[in-house]
Amino acid sequence: MGEAKFTGSRTLDVLLNAGGARTLTSDRVFLNLGTHASIPSVPGLAESEPMTNIEVLELDRLPEHLIVIGGGYVGLEFAQAYRRFGSRVTILERSPQVLPQQDPDVVAALVTIFSSEEIDVIAPAEILSVHGHSGTGVSLVVRISSGEKTITGSDILVATGRIPNTAGIGLEAAGVELDRRGYVKVDDRLQTTAPNVWAIGECAGSPQFTHISLDDFRVIRDNLAGRNRTTRDRMIPSCLFTDPQVSHIGLTETEANRQGIAFRIAKLPMAAVLRTRTIDETHGFMKALIEGDGDRILGFTMIGPEAGEVMAVVQTAMLAGLPYTALRDAILTHPTMAEGLVFLFSNVERVNGRADRRPDLLRTLTPQPVESIEHLQSS
Ligand SMILES: Cc1cc2nc3c(=O)[nH]c(=O)nc-3n(C[C@H](O)[C@H](O)[C@H](O)COP(=O)(O)OP(=O)(O)OC[C@H]3O[C@@H](n4cnc5c(N)ncnc54)[C@H](O)[C@@H]3O)c2cc1C
Repeated sequence: MGEAKFTGSRTLDVLLNAGGARTLTSDRVFLNLGTHASIPSVPGLAESEPMTNIEVLELDRLPEHLIVIGGGYVGLEFAQAYRRFGSRVTILERSPQVLPQQDPDVVAALVTIFSSEEIDVIAPAEILSVHGHSGTGVSLVVRISSGEKTITGSDILVATGRIPNTAGIGLEAAGVELDRRGYVKVDDRLQTTAPNVWAIGECAGSPQFTHISLDDFRVIRDNLAGRNRTTRDRMIPSCLFTDPQVSHIGLTETEANRQGIAFRIAKLPMAAVLRTRTIDETHGFMKALIEGDGDRILGFTMIGPEAGEVMAVVQTAMLAGLPYTALRDAILTHPTMAEGLVFLFSNVERVNGRADRRPDLLRTLTPQPVESIEHLQSS
């Protein structure tokens, strides 16, 4: 355990945590350096000593009013957690919406849930200056759509993105080049510009998820074992662990429109999935994109209970190249959350514009009056 620094090609000096140092030389080196939180260069922000994901996990007191800068995964998850601990919470996001990559209807559903918990979400909000000290009292001057405003709070959490841990560790001595954002330059087998040096995970610019770091490892392992595996065309699932979760795989509606990809859409409110009534958590919806001139599933998004688990079912169908009708016609256990997929995929728009509904199925499985369920599914 210690801090490693290159002194030459595949040679490292390690400053040991327990004291002392060691020099290590190896015929193969794997860089798995990770990232750290970035602090935006806003006047007064660094001086206010804001919390990052590290300090906020070590806090032994409850912030009276936590101001979260950044409405991505880290910001949203901590915002809801601290609100539920009892803090007042305000989220400031510079893009027009939190979760900037997600479809507006998904974000709107999440913001409605956050608002019902009295979490203030302000987007877009540009922070102009910060005064005071996080932990004792801060005031932030922000530009919002209605003009400039001062927001006061007790603590700041910065969750505005990550910086690779690649500076100051002698990578140049090892012949390892970085890209202009400081990530290790790699090819699609994660080989760096130095012979017999590979990079894994966030420091290699891979999508910032634990499951991607694991898959990067498998790419390298398989190639070293003589098998062919690359990082190209990976299907990358994601899950925001708020309550309820927001999961996603494949294309969003926004991306499909931007790329000019023809698609059909199916949407189902979670209240129409009977499992949500047994657990009394009916917020959210499921949404699927189906190719315009075929039956392949292009994307799936869910905001609702156990969204990450339900997504894995759709992901498996996508990996197998199954048509959406395979899930529509599958017999899935009642009452499970995944059962909702049968109803979702019974709701796909037909190519000619008519909905591909299966009211016969709904009637069989639904203990509620059929009309109300159908109303929910078509609304
Ligand atoms: C608050 C938070 C919540 C998250 N939640 C999720 C989640 O729910 N699901 C998910 O999939 N992902 C989540 N992530 C992202 C996930 O943690 C990362 O994508 C993943 O850990 C990246 O793995 P990695 O292998 O790139 O590096 P890391 O796991 O960051 O490991 C890198 C290690 O290298 C060490 N290191 C760096 N430089 C040196 C050096 N010079 N010498 C010695 N050691 C060094 C670091 O100290 C660190 O321990 C979350 C991230 C954060 C910040």
